[in-house]
Amino acid sequence: MSSSRQTRNQKLILEVLQHHSQPLSAQDIFLQLRNANHSVGLATVYRVLDTLRNEGKLQSINLGDPQVYYQVLPSNGHNRHHLICTQCRQVIPLSGCPVGDLEAQLSRQYQFVIEYHVLDFYGTCAQCRGVGGPESGPQGSALLQAKPK
Ligand SMILES: [Zn+2]
Ligand SMILES: [Zn+2]
Repeated sequence: MSSSRQTRNQKLILEVLQHHSQPLSAQDIFLQLRNANHSVGLATVYRVLDTLRNEGKLQSINLGDPQVYYQVLPSNGHNRHHLICTQCRQVIPLSGCPVGDLEAQLSRQYQFVIEYHVLDFYGTCAQCRGVGGPESGPQGSALLQAKPK
């Protein structure tokens, strides 16, 4: 693949992810691109996602199924933390980092230079428990509503 084509594919895939507030799998991205008439093969999508993640532009998220989901990293480069509903697979991003102090403390205690951390919380969201919605509802979750296997 020529490097200009690779750059184009990276840009396309980043755009797809930026347009969705919910994390997408490689398959989701592949279908989105195809629906938009971009001919990018699934293998290429996987390869580009890998590259983008290694470059620190994406983070991958595990939603409790075998697929890996991807999301654009916030501009501060800090991996975002999430509340992930195991019933409907809604992903609620946390606005801040709840463990900044802990990271500093561990770094001191173990003389360990921490480059990054990953922290997600799994459970059942308010809607699935039937107790009303969150205070500020996320948008665009329809795409990841549970698909029957
Ligand atoms: Zn739920
Ligand atoms: Zn954090």
